[in-house]
Amino acid sequence: MIPQDYHIHTNYSCDCKATMKDMCQAAIEFGIEEVGFCDHYDLMPEDPCYAFFQADAWWQALQRCRKDFQDSLTIRAGIELGEPHLFQDDMQEILKNYPWDYSLGSMHWVGSKTVFDPSYFNAPAEVAYRTYFLELAKMVTHANFDILAHLDVVKRYGFDIYGAYDPLQFESEIRDVLSICAERGIALEVNTAPLRRPIKQVAPSPVILSWFQEEGGRWVTIGSDAHLIEHVGFGLETAMSSLRSAGFDHLASFESRRPRPMPIPQDDINR
Ligand SMILES: [Zn+2]
Ligand SMILES: [Zn+2]
Repeated sequence: MIPQDYHIHTNYSCDCKATMKDMCQAAIEFGIEEVGFCDHYDLMPEDPCYAFFQADAWWQALQRCRKDFQDSLTIRAGIELGEPHLFQDDMQEILKNYPWDYSLGSMHWVGSKTVFDPSYFNAPAEVAYRTYFLELAKMVTHANFDILAHLDVVKRYGFDIYGAYDPLQFESEIRDVLSICAERGIALEVNTAPLRRPIKQVAPSPVILSWFQEEGGRWVTIGSDAHLIEHVGFGLETAMSSLRSAGFDHLASFESRRPRPMPIPQDDINR
C-alpha cells in the first residue's frame, strides 16, 4: 500500500482534463490509502490558470467522491496556492471560506517570469537558481499555508537548459527556506513530477531532505503532481525511500489543517 498521494489535480485546474472521480478510481487501483486533491488557485494575471478555479463546484465534486468512495479511499481537500505571499488577502479569504484539510504553497513565478518558460533561464544558472530560492524564502516567511510544494521545481526545466544543478552551491539559501519551514511547522512535500522528465529526480533533491531533518523539520508529505490518470501514485516508492534515507519515518496526514504522523512503510518487495 501507498499511504498517500497529496498532490493530485483534476479538471478544476486549467492544465488537467481528468475528472476527480477518475482520479479516485486510479488511486484505488494503485493501492493508495489517502489522496489529496489540490487544484491550482492562481492569481497572477499572466498565469494560464488565472481565476480558473471554481471553489463551490469543486467542493460539490469532492463531496460526491467522498460519498461514492467512502469505503475504499480517504479523500482530503487541498488547494495549491500560487505565490501566496503576493496575494495574501485573497488567499486568506479562500482559506477561511472552506474547510480545507491542507494548502500547498507553490512558487511558479518569480517576478514577471515563470520557471516553466524558457525565457526565465536566459540568466546564468547561478542567478536563475539563487533568485528562485531567495524569493521562496520570502514566500515561506510571509504566507499562510501548510505544505511547501516542489521546493526546487526550478530545476525541472533548468536541467534542460544548463544540465544538473548542485544543491550544495545554494546550501545557505536553501537552508534558510528549510529552517523557516521547520520553525513555522510548514511541511515539506516530496514531489515526483520531475521523475517523469529528463532530469529523473524527485523535488526537492534528496540531500535537501537531509538538511530539512537537520534544521528540525518534522512534517513531510509525498505527491505525484498527477495531471493525468496514469500519473496517480507515480514514483511514490522512490519518494518514500528518499525520505527514509534522510531519516524520516513518518509522513504527515492532514485533517482540518492539522498534521498527525502516519508511518512510512518499509520497502515492499512485492510492488
Ligand atoms: Zn506546482
Ligand atoms: Zn500541482
